[in-house]
Amino acid sequence: MEWVVVAGVTSARPWQGQRPVATDEPSPAHDPGCYLCPSVQRAAGARNPDYTGSFAFDNDFSSFGSSDVPLSEGFAQTAGVGGICRVLCWSEQHNQTLATLDEPAFEQVVELLCAEYQTLSQRDDVAYVMMFENKGKEVGVSNLHPHGQIYATEYLPQRVQTLDRALREGQLADKTLWQQLLEDPHWRGNIIEENEHFVHLLPWSARMPFETMIVPKRAIPAQSQMTATERKAYSQIWASALKRYDRFFGRSTPMISIHYNAPCDGRDLAHWHWFTLMQPPLRDAHTLKYLAGFETGGGDVVNPTLPEAAAQSLRETQP
Ligand SMILES: [Zn+2]
Repeated sequence: MEWVVVAGVTSARPWQGQRPVATDEPSPAHDPGCYLCPSVQRAAGARNPDYTGSFAFDNDFSSFGSSDVPLSEGFAQTAGVGGICRVLCWSEQHNQTLATLDEPAFEQVVELLCAEYQTLSQRDDVAYVMMFENKGKEVGVSNLHPHGQIYATEYLPQRVQTLDRALREGQLADKTLWQQLLEDPHWRGNIIEENEHFVHLLPWSARMPFETMIVPKRAIPAQSQMTATERKAYSQIWASALKRYDRFFGRSTPMISIHYNAPCDGRDLAHWHWFTLMQPPLRDAHTLKYLAGFETGGGDVVNPTLPEAAAQSLRETQP
């Protein structure tokens, strides 16, 4: 278990630090200098097809190599680590974001995520398929073309191990941990939007002031197992959440989004219940939330905003 320190009083501290200017600079629909735009030759030599809609390919600069390198001995241990890195372009248009895609294009993105998970999770050399998006200069993205990424690893990342343990320990005979949380009055009080199949809410234990998550009401381990109806409902509520963020902050919102699907290393998945997490690194439109000394040094995050107040602010914003 991890704790989050909620300290609303810290938001009243005088702020004389950096305030990044929210610059949504106009950019062209096609940028010949962008490695992710259609028909452009990438840095490693391959040329993108003249694609429309979404497009996925293996990352030319993978973070992983080969697990053939054995574990060394001694205190300075090293070992090879295998994995697959993929790039997922959401659109052929350089100047779009997920929040500005039309409904068919957005649904195509959801289908792409489901298909990629389905394919990669079948591989014997993959234990986890981490699908995510780093969006915006504030989170250090190297290319502003609308895109996500996949790191499919032969091991379980640390936070996924923690999540797996929490979901397993919190499982009741007939309810997953998320299903129990969705019945809890405090968690229900932080619901921002809800449809027949999904809930968009701000977690009671939010680490970032405006961190939110989308949770399916039905306990399914991975998003690839959504029915056609659920995929439509998920597209609707995810798109709504992203538009709501942009409206709330008055800008294209920087954020890290992660799809926490089930491990695929053969373990029992009866306790798994996938969800999407969205973490804008913002206190407000012009102030970044940093993980500073106590947080980096101690490992406990201090959230300067009351979760219920942040949930209310988002709920009162029309997407
Ligand atoms: Zn581009």
